[in-house]
Amino acid sequence: MPLSRWSSRHKKTFGKKKEKWDGNFRLPPKPDSYYTETKGSCRWCGDVILKEDGTINMRKSWHEDCATEYLLIYHSGEQRAQLWNRDKGKCNHCGCENRTWHADHIKPLVEQKHVKEEDLDWSYYSLDNLQTLCKSCHRKKTNSEVKLKGKKKPVYKKWSK
Ligand SMILES: [Zn+2]
Ligand SMILES: [Zn+2]
Repeated sequence: MPLSRWSSRHKKTFGKKKEKWDGNFRLPPKPDSYYTETKGSCRWCGDVILKEDGTINMRKSWHEDCATEYLLIYHSGEQRAQLWNRDKGKCNHCGCENRTWHADHIKPLVEQKHVKEEDLDWSYYSLDNLQTLCKSCHRKKTNSEVKLKGKKKPVYKKWSK
């Protein structure tokens, strides 16, 4: 999604009061800077946004990279688009190319369940922790995660390349 289009869509959340995180580990809490109504500073990382000449860009409220990161976490459509850009639908496990590919978190997000807000591991939400899997590999992985639940060894080790 072009940043400009999406950014204007997000104007209505500007300066909204910070909500208490509901504990949904699939949608981690947004940073305080997300709720501040200040142009020229980034709503994701909180740093200033500079123009090429080094002065503060008062028209912007997102760094390009930060917006990409944000969208990856909170917009599933954008998450698929980014993953498609990288993998082109090729299964990371068996290598097959299938139109009905799935987006999978290598380290399962569920491991962040019941983790306190300040202890969240953000690497779980990065593009590096996402892989393309075909339907059958995805099912196998999900099944093995269920079976191995409760064991100490992390499941994803088996699945990394
Ligand atoms: Zn930023
Ligand atoms: Zn596969």
